[in-house]
Amino acid sequence: MKAQQYEAPDSIDKAVALLAAAKGQARVLAGGTDLLIQMRVGRLSADTIVDIKCIAELRKISREDGGFKIGAAVSGAEADEHAELVAHWPGVVEGWELIGSTQIQGRATLAGNLCNASPAADGVPALIAAGAQVTIVGPNGSRKVPVEAIPTGPGRNSLAKGEFVTYFHLPKRPPHSSDAYLRLIPRTEMDIAVVGCAVNLTLDAGGTCTAASVALGAVAPTVVKVPDGAKALIGTKLDAAALDKLAAAASAACKPIDDKRGTVVYRTKIAGVLARRAALIAYERARKRA
Ligand SMILES: Cc1cc2nc3c(=O)[nH]c(=O)nc-3n(C[C@H](O)[C@H](O)[C@H](O)COP(=O)(O)OP(=O)(O)OC[C@H]3O[C@@H](n4cnc5c(N)ncnc54)[C@H](O)[C@@H]3O)c2cc1C
Repeated sequence: MKAQQYEAPDSIDKAVALLAAAKGQARVLAGGTDLLIQMRVGRLSADTIVDIKCIAELRKISREDGGFKIGAAVSGAEADEHAELVAHWPGVVEGWELIGSTQIQGRATLAGNLCNASPAADGVPALIAAGAQVTIVGPNGSRKVPVEAIPTGPGRNSLAKGEFVTYFHLPKRPPHSSDAYLRLIPRTEMDIAVVGCAVNLTLDAGGTCTAASVALGAVAPTVVKVPDGAKALIGTKLDAAALDKLAAAASAACKPIDDKRGTVVYRTKIAGVLARRAALIAYERARKRA
C-alpha cells in the first residue's frame, strides 16, 4: 500500500517536474477516494504520489469565455456551493454531487472520477453531453482535448506518462438551454450506477428543441453518446413520439455487462427510461432559463 515518496507541490510546473523525474510508477492524487482504496487492496501501486490539492489555482472555479473553467482539484462539495455553476450546468453538478457520501464529497474531484475511468463514473456522462474539454499538462507542454478522449476502457485512460488533467472547460450556455443527469442504483445511495444518463438541450424561444446531446454511463466500457436519441428530440417539444424514439435509441446504444447489479436486458430497458426522464427534466430547466 505504501508509496515511497509523497509530494504536495504548490504549482503546476512543480507537479509536472516531479512526475517527469519520478522513478518507477508515479500517480497523481486528487481526492484519493479511488486511488487510496485501490492501493490498499493491491489493485494499484505507486512509488511516488503527487498530491495536487495544494496547487491553489487548481482549487478554483472561474468564468471563461462565458463558460466555466474548473480546476482539477475542486471537490464536489465546492462545486455544489458555486451558485453560478449550478445555475448554468445543473446536470454536470448533479452527476458530481451524486458521488459518495458527505465525507467523499469533501474530497472527490471530477478529474479523479474521469481519470479513474470507471464505466459507471457518475461525473462523466454530463460532461460529455455538455461538450466539455480538459486541459492536460505534461513534459511536452499542454493540450486541450474533449472529455470523451480520456477514458479508453475500464480503469484505463489515454494520458501519457507524466501527464495530468489541470482544468475542465464548460462552454458558454445559449439562452433556453439546460441539462440533467439521472442514475439508477440498487440502493438509495452510496452504490455504483446500473445506468446513468445525461441530457443537454437547447430550445428556441417557443420551446422547440434546436440542439441536443445524450450520453449514457455504465452500459459499455466507456460512456456512449446517443446521436440518434439527440436527433429524435431536435425540432420537437419533446412530445410522446420524440421521447419514444429517444428511449429506443438509448436502449439500442447499450452494450452492457451482465452482473449482480443488473442484467443486460434490465440495463438496456433502464437506459431508455432514464433518457426519457432526464430529457424531460432538462427540458423544463431549459424553458425556465431566459
Ligand atoms: C464510499 C465511496 C463512494 C463512492 N461513490 C461513488 C459514486 O456514487 N459514483 C462515482 O462515480 N464514484 C464513486 N466513488 C468513487 C470516487 O469517489 C470517485 O471516482 C471520485 O470522483 C474520485 O475522485 P478523487 O479526486 O478522489 O480521485 P483520486 O482517488 O485522487 O484519483 C483517481 C484516479 O485518477 C487519477 N487522477 C486523479 N486526478 C488526476 C488528474 N488531475 N490527472 C490525471 N489523473 C488523475 C489518480 O492517479 C487515480 O488513478 C466512491 C468512492 C467511495 C470510497
